Amino acid sequence: MNIHEYQTKELLRGFGVPVPNGRVAHNVDNAATIAEDLGGERWVVKAQIHAGGRGKGGGVRVASSLEEVRQFTDEMIGTYLVTPQTGEQGRLVQRVLIEQACKINKEYYLGMVIDRATQRITVIASASGGMNIEEVAKTDPDRVIREAVDPAIGLAGFQCRKIAARMGLAGKQIGEAAKIMQALYRCFRDKDALLAEINPLAAIDEGRLMALDAKMSFDSNAMYRHSDIIELRDFDEEDVKEVEASGHGLNYIALDGDVGCIVNGAGLAMATMDAISFHKGRPANFLDVGGGASPEKVGNAFRIVLQDPNVKAILVNIFAGINRCDWIAEGLVQAMRDQDIQVPIVVRLAGTNVEKGAPILKASGFPFIMADNLDDAATKVVAVLEAAA
Ligand code: GDP
Ligand code: MN
Repeated sequence: MNIHEYQTKELLRGFGVPVPNGRVAHNVDNAATIAEDLGGERWVVKAQIHAGGRGKGGGVRVASSLEEVRQFTDEMIGTYLVTPQTGEQGRLVQRVLIEQACKINKEYYLGMVIDRATQRITVIASASGGMNIEEVAKTDPDRVIREAVDPAIGLAGFQCRKIAARMGLAGKQIGEAAKIMQALYRCFRDKDALLAEINPLAAIDEGRLMALDAKMSFDSNAMYRHSDIIELRDFDEEDVKEVEASGHGLNYIALDGDVGCIVNGAGLAMATMDAISFHKGRPANFLDVGGGASPEKVGNAFRIVLQDPNVKAILVNIFAGINRCDWIAEGLVQAMRDQDIQVPIVVRLAGTNVEKGAPILKASGFPFIMADNLDDAATKVVAVLEAAA
């Protein structure tokens, strides 16, 4: 789960990370009032969307008058901002963050992730922060510092000072950077984050360090114990199909292929996507209908999968243990009756009551393409797509 920059900054401020003074605005008057309240002569107007690269897309602008604050806000709110991370359709900007601008002397990068290889929270830092950090990581990986945190000890002071020194910081800045790292680590750990990123961490007047941009994402599976974070969820930034699916107790993740997948069990859903890819097809989604999938749930699964206009065929793969194939088959037939389903459907049923399930599909008269096993199903769905192309 992702949150907006202004929310991340508010959260980090609470943990002791220095961030600029600022507030979020929903319209032009709002923005001007905030800028006036903040005072000063220059303000930054920042589009709030769940995507980075805004600086490159015109979503971060420095205003030198209240008039400009109004103008930039007006130009951002209500438009689709295109950045290197949004795709060409862009993201609708519904609010902007107004902050006091500061003079930047140097931009650093400071982030934390969970490294799957070492299974540890790992600090990532660089002296080459700012808008081109992705480039730096690719072309000059030696300029990226990594330091794994031992979970039993936590982020140690000596590690922070070592990282700070390697970032090229000196004097008072070392202690300041260490405090920021400790605060970021505490926030990361306490809130079950998956990623935290301060970019740029800027050296401003008199060498002070400040988080000018911040981004965090959190482990959705841990959010039951963080009601304060859940409140920050912005449904407008999420895939509507994914939101609807979670409301129906379905686990759905949108992907960019053309084979819709309806599967029971997360592991089987992953294996199904692998099998499709193995046969040179491209899955349009991950979908786990769960163990006790009722006919209603199967119907909802079809509705959600078919909301994706790229879907040209559907593979239903059920291995019924707790579930029963006859129940699933009834759900499939019902979905065909209720919905205007035009794409070919390949079905693989196995497990409990399979001998009752297959005849139900056959007797329905709908043109289900039956498959014997997973490999057969993947082969058939790819063949059917190729035949249609
Ligand atoms: P991103 O492009 O989405 O990562 O957005 P950022 O918030 O990182 O902004 C991009 C760039 O805008 C930064 O790297 C800075 O160079 C600049 N920027 C951001 N905030 C300020 C600020 O308060 N003052 C000034 N002068 N520049 C800023
Ligand atoms: Mn940034």
